[in-house]
Amino acid sequence: MHKPLTLVALAVAALLPLIGLPPYWITLTNYIGLSSLVALGLILLTGVGGLTSFGQAAFVGLGAYATAVLSMQYGLSPWLGLLAGLFVTICSATLIGLITMRMSGHYLPLATIAWSLSLYFTFGNLDFVGKYDGMSGLPSISLFGFVFDSARSMFYLIWGFVLLAVVALRNLLNSRPGRAIRALKGGGLMAEAMGVNTARMKIVIFVFAAVLACISGWLYAHLQRSVNPSPFGLNYGIEYLFMAVIGGIGHIWGALLGAGILTVLKDVLPIVLPKLFGTSGNFEAIVFGVLMVVVLQYAPDGVWPRLRRFFPQSAPLPAPVDAPALPVRPRQTVGELVLDVQDARKTFGGLVAVNDVSFHVRAGEIVGLIGPNGAGKSTTFNLITGLLSATSGKITYCSEEISRLSSRQIAARGIARTFQHVQLLPTMSVLENVAIGAHMRGDHAPQRGIAAAVLRLNGAEERKLLHEAARQLERVGLQDCMYMEAGSLALGQQRILEIARALCCDPALLLLDEPAAGLRFQEKQALAALLTQLKSEGMSILLVEHDMDFVMNLTDRLVVMEFGTKIAEGLPVEIQNNPAVLEAYLGGID
Ligand code: ADP
Ligand code: MG
Repeated sequence: MHKPLTLVALAVAALLPLIGLPPYWITLTNYIGLSSLVALGLILLTGVGGLTSFGQAAFVGLGAYATAVLSMQYGLSPWLGLLAGLFVTICSATLIGLITMRMSGHYLPLATIAWSLSLYFTFGNLDFVGKYDGMSGLPSISLFGFVFDSARSMFYLIWGFVLLAVVALRNLLNSRPGRAIRALKGGGLMAEAMGVNTARMKIVIFVFAAVLACISGWLYAHLQRSVNPSPFGLNYGIEYLFMAVIGGIGHIWGALLGAGILTVLKDVLPIVLPKLFGTSGNFEAIVFGVLMVVVLQYAPDGVWPRLRRFFPQSAPLPAPVDAPALPVRPRQTVGELVLDVQDARKTFGGLVAVNDVSFHVRAGEIVGLIGPNGAGKSTTFNLITGLLSATSGKITYCSEEISRLSSRQIAARGIARTFQHVQLLPTMSVLENVAIGAHMRGDHAPQRGIAAAVLRLNGAEERKLLHEAARQLERVGLQDCMYMEAGSLALGQQRILEIARALCCDPALLLLDEPAAGLRFQEKQALAALLTQLKSEGMSILLVEHDMDFVMNLTDRLVVMEFGTKIAEGLPVEIQNNPAVLEAYLGGID
């Protein structure tokens, strides 16, 4: 959003309690702020990262109970209560994350449900926290002598934290770890191939969301001056999720909007409905449920995307004009053995997708891997890049066996790839998509830098990474599309984007899976020129491609596969006249 407009909005918001807003609205706004904090965490966790948690209310409870126990029973400052709550939250969220993140599918949602239920009953059954009655008489929070003992003063504290959370989240998302987090959705295979430790990133966002929930609980406890288990049960966990979904789970402002809509509805419906129906009863639950279904049906992305166009849009991250170059890995000397695939085999149940295939690639060589559809070419790529592990055989890269390494470790050694089915983030700018490729080349260790990103201490790193991304886009001829959404590019251009992203990894070996598919003639010529240029710089390239003219003119050597088996290998001219290849590949046409 534009800065002046944001400032005006902030000033107006800050004045609200002072211009005589009725206490009812102040209280309601406070509760919206408390829920916004939790929903903001869910934007990151569920909306951006694609992980679902029903257990956020339990983390709210941890924050509330930690400060209640410390301040009531030990007479300690609420700020120490906050620290204790954060400590317990971070530990428990990390533990839950470690246990569930490596398992795919429904383990995290189920674990958060179990966590939520067990914590609720723990609070309800522990004597020293007052069982189901809870504790009351908590002290107010004070800061530098100022005591937050009224709803109006708490307004500033609560919304101060919401503001901090919004800024922190925006900073995080517009950073190197943020781009890695955004790449988690859709399985994270691409992210791993770019060197992202997706399991760790998932734990990071789970902890981040839990921390926001914990802060909300801490504020809640000192606003209410009492705690009891009921606001921290599973139903509230579900409600927080609803807030994020209704507001717009992919958008930061969606959290605030969703929290606002649900909090107001929850407050207004029980008053309005009985009057409307002329009889008392719990209609709100029914109306609420119906409303949810209607919104999800007609605005599955939430309400915010519908309102968004009425607000000024934030511009995409700009490419810096100049920045120091990123470090470059040493290249092999031309002719040196780079990749050696020996008897690689991959079976899927009874299907032998890759049948004891052997070949090699030398530095500065372009090798084509060709064969009819289903021959096992992409599977071979997946074996080399560690996306799949070979059933048997040995793959060596620069004298090091890489057969058992993860795709992240292989990427770190200098093998970058593109995908036959393009894997990019359609709503992210082309520039930022390409910058994901430079994930491993930041100032911090690849998986760190979260704190630096949140605090915006990553300016120098960002400039270098985005400059590198812009440089690679220029190299592949996509510089004019830099600020477009990646999803708006033609398919051929999306493939070229993937090449730029792979080049951002600073690879020594580049694996391209059908890069020319969908390209027009001139674009193919430009791509061939680019690959020839890369080769002259000492890059080794392994290429899967169906366009025979393209392959024959470009490659130094060809490996031909059919039904998982290598049936020929040689110079393009030899392959063109190889009877076995003609029989298999061209269907026997002479
Ligand atoms: P190509 O890229 O040469 O067209 P692929 O490597 O994609 O071929 O596929 C080779 C064979 O392996 C095909 O028969 C395909 O159906 C099968 N295959 C590929 N991936 C999987 C998988 N994950 N599970 C089961 N079968 C697979
Ligand atoms: Mg394929």
